[in-house]
Amino acid sequence: MKQLVVATKNKKKFSEIKDILKSMNLKLLSLDAYKGVTQVLEDGKTFSENAIKKAVKLARFTGQLCLGEDSGLSVDVLDGAPGIYSARFSGRDKSDIKNNLKLLRLLKDMPAAERRAHYVCAVALADKRGLIGVVEGSCSGLIAFEPKGSAGFGYDPLFYIPKYKKTFAQLGEKIKHKMSHRHHALKKAKRIIEKYIEKHTRN
Ligand code: IMP
Repeated sequence: MKQLVVATKNKKKFSEIKDILKSMNLKLLSLDAYKGVTQVLEDGKTFSENAIKKAVKLARFTGQLCLGEDSGLSVDVLDGAPGIYSARFSGRDKSDIKNNLKLLRLLKDMPAAERRAHYVCAVALADKRGLIGVVEGSCSGLIAFEPKGSAGFGYDPLFYIPKYKKTFAQLGEKIKHKMSHRHHALKKAKRIIEKYIEKHTRN
């Protein structure tokens, strides 16, 4: 079975990626399987740049087919913030709760029509020879007026899907994983992985 190493230590992200790729005949490993590897400094200007950096660095270290993922939330009225800074939106002492509270504070008094947002996910694939490909996916919603639900992670308690009248944290993984930014990016990444495996098992 072909191995795919995912450049993340985030257990919730890893389990979401595993779930979305479960139809593929792949053994997925996270950074936890490689003790010596340090996390990449996310200093790119875009999600794709950061995803590429994560995948290429890990592939060089492991010699394996690797997947780098970078994602975040982009709020229209905040000119796309927090964007690539989503994880550290509330500063050095960051936490999901503090990030969500800061977002609510910035959108205070904004009506529903001004609370449009989308999640973005970039996925890059690399092997020891270098970058194989990079793709992006997104998912639209609104920022709720208060956090609701306990599933998922990050901004999920605030990410409201009008079609279901629920946040991602209320909808749970079964629905989220079929419509998330990660789902859309990984659907494209699957095609790259399939082609890669086909090419490398033939030769
Ligand atoms: P990264 O690990 O640098 O890619 O940080 C991604 C950050 O974006 C997370 O810490 C969350 O704050 C946010 N984020 C990305 N994807 C999701 C998601 O699916 N749900 C909730 N928050 C997310």
